[in-house]
Amino acid sequence: MSDTEYASSDGEDSEDDVQVLAGDVEAWRADIAHAKETGLSLSDATCCPVCLLAFAERLTADKRNVARLVAIVHSFWEGCAAAATLPRSENAMRDLRTAMERNTTECKNHDEHSGELPHTDSALLFLDAACQLVYAGLGHMMARASQQKRTFSSQRHGLALWPQTRNDLFPVAPVDTIDALLSCAELVGRASGYPLLVLGVYMLIARAVVLPVFMQSTNLCQRVIQVVANTLTNASAASARAQPFTSAGLFLYALREGPGTKPDDMLAFIIDLKDVLFPALCIGFDAGNGDTEDIEGREAFLPTVRSYILRLHGIMRLPVEDLPVEIRPEVQGNYKLQFPNILYVLLGNISRTHRCAHKGCPTPDAGAFKTCSGCHLLRYCNAHCQRNDWNGRGYDMKHKDVCPLLARILPTADPKGPELAFIHAYITATANFDIFERGYLAAYTIDNDLTPLELKARFKEMAAEKGVNLPERRTGFRSPFA
Ligand SMILES: [Zn+2]
Ligand SMILES: [Zn+2]
Ligand SMILES: [Zn+2]
Repeated sequence: MSDTEYASSDGEDSEDDVQVLAGDVEAWRADIAHAKETGLSLSDATCCPVCLLAFAERLTADKRNVARLVAIVHSFWEGCAAAATLPRSENAMRDLRTAMERNTTECKNHDEHSGELPHTDSALLFLDAACQLVYAGLGHMMARASQQKRTFSSQRHGLALWPQTRNDLFPVAPVDTIDALLSCAELVGRASGYPLLVLGVYMLIARAVVLPVFMQSTNLCQRVIQVVANTLTNASAASARAQPFTSAGLFLYALREGPGTKPDDMLAFIIDLKDVLFPALCIGFDAGNGDTEDIEGREAFLPTVRSYILRLHGIMRLPVEDLPVEIRPEVQGNYKLQFPNILYVLLGNISRTHRCAHKGCPTPDAGAFKTCSGCHLLRYCNAHCQRNDWNGRGYDMKHKDVCPLLARILPTADPKGPELAFIHAYITATANFDIFERGYLAAYTIDNDLTPLELKARFKEMAAEKGVNLPERRTGFRSPFA
């Protein structure tokens, strides 16, 4: 995959604030000068961490200023990324601490700061502030990634925006960058969610690099899950910098639903630490679900956390009482996995993926594609792929056999909504389906790459229990769930 995956338009960043590079020049000239200076002092650790933190707080509250700086002072952000991602041995950390303490003592600018700092260790102040700045600087990338638009090589008013390429995010080798960010997260612990937020954005915008790094290192994978679990467990504490629910939620969201996601990525990532993660997810869910404070990203991340919980709960075969009260109704009664539950997961996966649905497509990864006008669900990169899929070329199933069925189900059954509501709507919508129609739907589900492997396995088990043959193409297959 290249930097232009899920490319859509010309990469011009269309922000609402067209004033970004005009007006109040004087007001931000000082900040640009300050950022230039700070960028340099970040790379050689000559800056004052107290002032750096104050600057990070100011930029976090001032998105327009960030918008200017990502267009004009790339060196500043390069300095921030380097500070946050440089691998540091124990000795290097000691040197950093000494330097930061000295810089703080010698600094003449921060007289208004007296106590009230999030860390007593000045090296942690420095790392935390650097992570906060990187997170602020990547805000525009997150917005574009969540709209499945091209992220790197963006421009605004003809000016190139930082970061221009993936390499800008990885000043050292990706595995060392991730390792360093994780160390930051472990060092700041529960005091700050910014390092984990940076890891989440990295997963969201540079998945093709970040995911393999984790999947090839059990150590890194376990460490990040541990950080996520600790953060979720801490989610009701208001004292941390950056809301813990948001920090953990973004990472989980990026892993499960970010651009380029494959349906089994999430499970492969978390399965070894399911015992650590599951209770933490439940605590985090309750905290995120509480209405005590305004939580950034709650709308997107709460359903994400809920689906992790339900997925793990099913796999671990735990009692209903282990679930958060709010979720229990979804699995109460004589709940058992049925065909509609599997279809729900598959259709949810399809609606979240923005790849071309034709199996033989040479470039399935790119884009904000048009959807099929029949089912409004499948996406195709061009008319050629759509025609081939419709007629079953390169695929075991013809889309024309399944499309009308989906078109009867989807208007009332929403795979992005709650599972139980989907099941009820599905039962009504398919009440008049004949045996062939049920067979097509079952064959389509078992044949689809976006159906998670463990659900396919469960499907086969259930078919075997009922003594039914597995679906075969366009035969009168009787669904084991009919
Ligand atoms: Zn200072
Ligand atoms: Zn295609
Ligand atoms: Zn269709």
